Amino acid sequence: MAGMRTWSGTYEFRGSLVAATTIDEVRRAVAASEAVRPVGTRHSFNDIADVDGTLVSVVDIPADITLDGDVVTCGGGTRYGELATWLEERGLALHNMGSLPHISVAGAISTGTHGSGLGNGSLSTAVRSLSFVGPAGDLRTESAGSADFPGSVVSLGRLGPIVRIGLAVEPSYQVRQDVYLGVRWADLLADPLAVLGAGYSVSVFTDWMGEAVQQVWVKSRLDGDAADDPVERFGVRPTEHQVKIVETAEDNTTLQGIAGPWAWRLPHFRLDATPSDGREIQTEYFVPIEAAAEALRTVRRLGPRIREHLLVTELRTIAADDLWLSPAYGRDSLAIHFTWTDDVTAVGALVPLIRDALAPFGARPHWGKVHAMSAEAIAPLYPRVHDALNLFHRMDPGGKFRNPYTDLVLGG
Ligand SMILES: Cc1cc2nc3c(=O)[nH]c(=O)nc-3n(C[C@H](O)[C@H](O)[C@H](O)COP(=O)(O)OP(=O)(O)OC[C@H]3O[C@@H](n4cnc5c(N)ncnc54)[C@H](O)[C@@H]3O)c2cc1C
Repeated sequence: MAGMRTWSGTYEFRGSLVAATTIDEVRRAVAASEAVRPVGTRHSFNDIADVDGTLVSVVDIPADITLDGDVVTCGGGTRYGELATWLEERGLALHNMGSLPHISVAGAISTGTHGSGLGNGSLSTAVRSLSFVGPAGDLRTESAGSADFPGSVVSLGRLGPIVRIGLAVEPSYQVRQDVYLGVRWADLLADPLAVLGAGYSVSVFTDWMGEAVQQVWVKSRLDGDAADDPVERFGVRPTEHQVKIVETAEDNTTLQGIAGPWAWRLPHFRLDATPSDGREIQTEYFVPIEAAAEALRTVRRLGPRIREHLLVTELRTIAADDLWLSPAYGRDSLAIHFTWTDDVTAVGALVPLIRDALAPFGARPHWGKVHAMSAEAIAPLYPRVHDALNLFHRMDPGGKFRNPYTDLVLGG
């Protein structure tokens, strides 16, 4: 479809869209096309979901959510917000959420999308089963425990459209989000884990300038050992005012200071509002948590050079996992994120500065964001990348699901 763009509008797709409404339509579209990419809700910021061929969306297929013990199964195109509402109505929960509930489950887990929390794996770690449409239009299911499973979850769309997906659930829990303003950089750098571990899920927002970071969001699980009332931390009390992350954005953030269900407190943005700013580009790198203080010092030195085009940085943590292409593969990680203005040229010039500054820390990129890295630098950072490529080749010998982006970041 000419003119179809990513959510923020900074990338225009080349492929033609098939918006399937049934799994059979997906099978027919895949079988009939020579080059196919699954596309989700288009919240990525690069050409990861594009190809000069057919773009297959499963977002319009009914969610058809079912529960079997502690696994919920839904259509791959289901938005997290819809799934979370369904679960909460039944007293159930996911272990974590990304900052926005608008993204599709399959699109999110295919890139290793994450929330925050020292003990929380990415959203991909909740996956228990995946049903793919293979290159001949065949349906195949991969379940946790199979040899290929760790290479199948974060697969960047290389295994074909995921039409059904099973996720681990747990009993619902309450979360309170407290926001602290003016936490000192000196305290963060002296002990990053004390700040980033101050609650179940913690986010630090900064522009890298000045003596204090802008905001620290602490999301406490009230079935854990969190205090019933907001407490003073880092020498400050939580603010009583509802904050925004990006000043220019509409009123879009989740409610502070009042406990509520996980589904409406773990995401930063409300499903009924435009998340973040909307006119933006995003970049993110993952470094080993042990390197957090040094990596932060290094990027902070770039603050004056990047500030003109930076809307905000967010710092979060992700627990290590065993998914071959997950940015948190084998290491507890600090994710250093940048929300930029939508000036493609200016941002394109700044991203390599960050990339080069973080390279000595073995920084891995967020697959769905602008990162200026290619296979030469990326492959050595992923011990199982060759196993992943072998799996993709075995399942898709003709390369129907390849695209320029996956060739660039993974190699041929
Ligand atoms: C405002 C905003 C906030 C964000 N916040 C976060 C955050 O908190 N944490 C984080 O980690 N990221 C975040 N992101 C990035 C986003 O979560 C990822 O880029 C995610 O992959 C987008 O999902 P999507 O459904 O839009 O997929 P798309 O961008 O459409 O596609 C992404 C990848 O998934 C594949 N894919 C899509 N659908 C399927 C399918 N059915 N089967 C197989 N493969 C499929 C595509 O081929 C492509 O490789 C944010 C993005 C935005 C715009």
